[in-house]
Amino acid sequence: MNNKIIYLDNAATTKISPKALEAMTECLKNNFGNPSSIHRVGSMAKKALETAREQIAEEFRCDPYELYFTSGGTESDNLALQGIAKSLEKQGKNHIITFKAEHPAVLNRCLELEKEGFEITFAPSDKTGCVDPDFIKNAVTSKTALVSVMFANNETGALQPVKQIGEICREKGVLFHTDAVQAAGHIRIDLSELPVDLMSVSGHKLHASKGIGLLYIKNKTPISPILYGGMQERSMRAGTENIPAAAAFAAAVKESYQNLDKQTESIIKISDKLTNGLLSIPGTQLNSIARNKLPNIINVSFDGVDSETMVLMLSLKNICVSGGSACTAADSKPSHVLSAMGLDLPRIKSAVRFSPDTDISDEEIDYVIRTCRELTEKLKK
Ligand code: PLP
Repeated sequence: MNNKIIYLDNAATTKISPKALEAMTECLKNNFGNPSSIHRVGSMAKKALETAREQIAEEFRCDPYELYFTSGGTESDNLALQGIAKSLEKQGKNHIITFKAEHPAVLNRCLELEKEGFEITFAPSDKTGCVDPDFIKNAVTSKTALVSVMFANNETGALQPVKQIGEICREKGVLFHTDAVQAAGHIRIDLSELPVDLMSVSGHKLHASKGIGLLYIKNKTPISPILYGGMQERSMRAGTENIPAAAAFAAAVKESYQNLDKQTESIIKISDKLTNGLLSIPGTQLNSIARNKLPNIINVSFDGVDSETMVLMLSLKNICVSGGSACTAADSKPSHVLSAMGLDLPRIKSAVRFSPDTDISDEEIDYVIRTCRELTEKLKK
């Protein structure tokens, strides 16, 4: 293999697509205005922002005014949880139900709310990394303000029963938030049919830039802002809007949904080849085993191999992967997702996540498998 980097960490972040980059650059060069200014330059910026909102709304099939731009997935999750908590607390609703395998953006916000007096129920995970909708159903009380369950898990790709949970929430009259940061752009999400009240999306996970995300807030959802300042985003999110990133976000969302069927077909082939190859290495176990999962996330444990060492050794061979999730890479604690699935500590500590995109060739997949085989043999010794 030449010195080309084989990037298999798209669940951590993606490379900006040429179309998104073009939209962003065009805006940076020619549309620098502040959308709150009432002059011509401001109006141009406002138009670019609203066009981006409309384009994204078209793909997610919602009203453009149900979309609020944020700085990314973490902020969207925080706005959903804290915004609903703040709004419904006044009505005596101080209970939130979430899932043990959520991203830290949800989990840590919930832990903070717990310190502030909220009661949090953490629904358990089954062995495949999924939540049981019946658990949620039984956990709802008259004090429940919100249920927050992710669309797809970032470490295993496990797709959660979002539709079923949403139906339960509707039946019980409880608000439902889903963190769709990993799912958006990879599977079709039709908000005109899906029973969710709030949904988080992040630009940099779907080939837009960092620094942009959105929160879908269904019309008439009682939510309070968490940032105060100007009246941007209809007073839901103060601060001058990131227009170039919003333009890139819209281009990337549009592109991913236009090519979705072709992309999915291609990623399934890549994922099958990579998974089968990795599993042919002695002592390798598959951790991403949910029946319904994103094909682009493959999580395996290499028996007897420390995952961090493996990630660094692979990097020396120009292969970029991740041990668990990128957001917890600096955290030496074992993956809370794999722990929630009931995996034992040695298996968790040897887990590696591969998240390919469609740009990887058969030859490169063979090289990855060959390198993993060589390294596991070496590291076991
Ligand atoms: N939620 C999930 C499921 C994620 O995977 C991530 C990022 O890894 C986030 C939230 C945070 O998103 P951002 O990096 O845009 O803040």
